[in-house]
Amino acid sequence: MAGEPQDDCLFCKIVAGRIPATVVKETETTVAFRDINPQAPTHVLVIPKVHYADAAELAAAEPSVTADLLRHAGEVATEEKLESYRLVFNTGSGAGQTVFHAHLHLLGGRGMHWPPG
Ligand code: AMP
Ligand code: ZN
Repeated sequence: MAGEPQDDCLFCKIVAGRIPATVVKETETTVAFRDINPQAPTHVLVIPKVHYADAAELAAAEPSVTADLLRHAGEVATEEKLESYRLVFNTGSGAGQTVFHAHLHLLGGRGMHWPPG
């Protein structure tokens, strides 16, 4: 059921501490940890502790947790001393989503191109 931990979900396992991650900051509702395959000098994933497949499902069901996610990403960016950074929700496999537990990418520490690839 949406919102409940999923046995086969990588990020639910990280939330539960069943898979190790380099956690940079945790709140009551969210966890931020370093991406295992960083695409920028700072590449942190900020995830809700509750399980939803993507950002739109999360926002529809838990708007306050969605706001927590954005606030938490901003706090991590400040702690990482990033003047500029990019926040990304890949949504759907065609857009590059590979883990179907909503997550916000925080990328920074290098120049960013627009439009993104
Ligand atoms: P996406 O492609 O938007 O679904 O993002 C999933 C991200 O999760 C990718 O950037 C992966 O590098 C990252 N990732 C996968 N497994 C792990 C892991 N065990 N710890 C940290 N990041 C991971
Ligand atoms: Zn999950």
